[in-house]
Amino acid sequence: MANYKLSGGCACGNFRYEFNGELAMAAHCHCRDCQKSSGTGSAAVFATNRNNYKFTGKTSSYKFTGDSGNVVERHFCPNCGSPLFSDVEILPDLIFARIASLDEPSHIKPSMHIYCDSSQVWDRPNDHLAKFGKMPT
Ligand SMILES: [Zn+2]
Ligand SMILES: [Zn+2]
Repeated sequence: MANYKLSGGCACGNFRYEFNGELAMAAHCHCRDCQKSSGTGSAAVFATNRNNYKFTGKTSSYKFTGDSGNVVERHFCPNCGSPLFSDVEILPDLIFARIASLDEPSHIKPSMHIYCDSSQVWDRPNDHLAKFGKMPT
């Protein structure tokens, strides 16, 4: 797996992050929470180890039970509301972040679609990437 050294942040610039390391995964997520929190049909997300991150600034967060049945804590900028990253309780080593929050979002490309079971009729995945009803196992 390639090593990535990238930076990103929220829309207003109050929260910034850097990470340096390998990706665990990158996907288009069609779960209802990504839909609700983005206001769109899906969100492009990537996961990497928590130790690869450096944060500047503070987030607000809320906890909920995700489509997977696991507790998720979603962090967003308290000033501009941009979704930033999520912690999944059963995967404590990983951070799931939005690819679009990167300064150079083209550097990470999703390799699959996940939670296709809740994809919307107006935003069905129709490219060549692998598709999973929920999370790949
Ligand atoms: Zn912000
Ligand atoms: Zn999702």
